Amino acid sequence: MFTTTVILSLTEMLLKTILNSVTNYKSFRFGKVGFDQKNTPYQHIVAVIHPRKNSKALCTKCGKPCPTYDTTQTPRRFEFVPLWNIPVFFDYKMRRVTCPEHGVIVERVPWGDGKCTQTIEQRQFLANWARRLSWSEVAECFHTTFGKVFRAVKWIVEYGLEHRNLDGVESIGIDEVQIRKGHRYATLVYQIDDGHKRLLGVEEDRTEESLQHFFDEFDAGTKDEDKRSLKIKWVCSDMWKAYLNVVGKVCTNALNILDRFHVKGHLTEAVNDVRKMDVAKLKKEGREPVLTKSKYIFLKNPENLTDEQAEKMSELLGYNLRVVRAYLMKEDFERFWEYKTAYWSGRFLDAWCVRAMRSKMEPMKKFVKMVRKHRELLMNWFRSKGLSSGMVEGFNNRVKLTARKAYGFRSLETLKIALFHALGKLPEPESTHRFW
Ligand SMILES: [Zn+2]
Repeated sequence: MFTTTVILSLTEMLLKTILNSVTNYKSFRFGKVGFDQKNTPYQHIVAVIHPRKNSKALCTKCGKPCPTYDTTQTPRRFEFVPLWNIPVFFDYKMRRVTCPEHGVIVERVPWGDGKCTQTIEQRQFLANWARRLSWSEVAECFHTTFGKVFRAVKWIVEYGLEHRNLDGVESIGIDEVQIRKGHRYATLVYQIDDGHKRLLGVEEDRTEESLQHFFDEFDAGTKDEDKRSLKIKWVCSDMWKAYLNVVGKVCTNALNILDRFHVKGHLTEAVNDVRKMDVAKLKKEGREPVLTKSKYIFLKNPENLTDEQAEKMSELLGYNLRVVRAYLMKEDFERFWEYKTAYWSGRFLDAWCVRAMRSKMEPMKKFVKMVRKHRELLMNWFRSKGLSSGMVEGFNNRVKLTARKAYGFRSLETLKIALFHALGKLPEPESTHRFW
C-alpha cells in the first residue's frame, strides 16, 4: 500500500512533469506543486516557482541581468491555464534588482508582465477562446471574470497591432458602419488583396480627419516615396465626399473604385424612398393600403424572397405603383456589372440614367445625379476587372455580426478591440505549447 506521502509526491511529480512540458522558464524551476483549497471554495492547483541557483534576475525595463536588491516575503499569485478545468496558480516571491540604468526596480519574469496577475499563457488561452465564444461565455466556461477575458483580448490585440506588418498592401476597401443608433459612425479600412484579407483600421466618425488619421498611422515609419499609401493601387469606397477627398490626396498612385455594394445600397435606398412616397399617396387618396409590410420585399434580391414574399411581389407588380417601376429599374441596373467591356457598360449606364430621369421619381433622379457626378469612378470598376466584388460587403456583414454580439460595448475603444480581434489577423506571441 502507498502511504499518503508517497501518493502526494507522485502527484507532485506528475504535475511538475506536465508543467515543465508546457512551459520553458529557463532561469526558474517549479518547487512544491499540489492541490490546495485555502481561501477559495473550490479545489485548485498551486505551483510554487523558485529562481534557479546562480541565475541573475533581470531588470523589468531593459532586461539586463542585475544584482538582487531584495525579495518580497509574500509571494505574488499568478493565474495560469486551468488543467482539466481545475484552476492553476503560480506563487512566486518577486525580487527587486539594482539596475545601473533604472535603479531599484522589480524583476522581469517570463510568465507575466507588469502588475498583471494573469500569466501570458492564460491571457493567450482566454483570448483564443474568445474568438469562438462570446466573452461572457469564455468567462463562464473557465471560471474567470468578464473583465479578465476582456483584458486578455485587449492585451493580445495590442501585442498584435504592435507586431503586425503593414507592408505590401495593394488593395484596400473603405467602409463606414453605424456603431450605435443615433448616427454615430466609424470608418473601417480593410486590406482586400487576394489571399490577404484583414481589417487594417478602425477610426471614429466618417470625416476627412477620420480617414486621414488612418493613413497617418498606416504610413508611420515610412516617408517620401517609400510611404505605404503610395504603394496602394486600388481603393474601393463609397462616394462619400470626405473619403474621396482624402484618397485623392493621399493615395496618389491608386485607382479609386466605387464599390458595387455601396452603389447598390444607394439604389436600394432610393427605391425605399419611392415606396414611402407611394404609401403616403395611397393613404391620402384613401385607397387600399397594398404596400403594408412590403418594405423588405423591395429591399431584397428577388432570389432571396420567401414563397410568401414572392407571391406578394407578383401581386404588387399588377398595380400601377411607382415603387414597382423603381424596383424594376433597380433590378435592371444589375446588368451594368455584367458587361465585359467598359464601352458597353458605359452605354448601358447612360441609357439607364436617361430612363431614370424620365421616370419623374425624385429619389431615382437623385441617384442618377450622384452616379453622373461620379461616372468616372464607377467606370473604374471595369479597369479593376471586378476587384473585390462582395469583398467589402463580406467584411461589412462580419463587422455587424461582431458588433451585435452582446459584448456590452460601451465605447468605440472596446468595439475596436473586438473587431481587430475577430478580423485583424494579428500576429500572436510565440508560446511553448498551444493551450487552446
Ligand atoms: Zn534596467
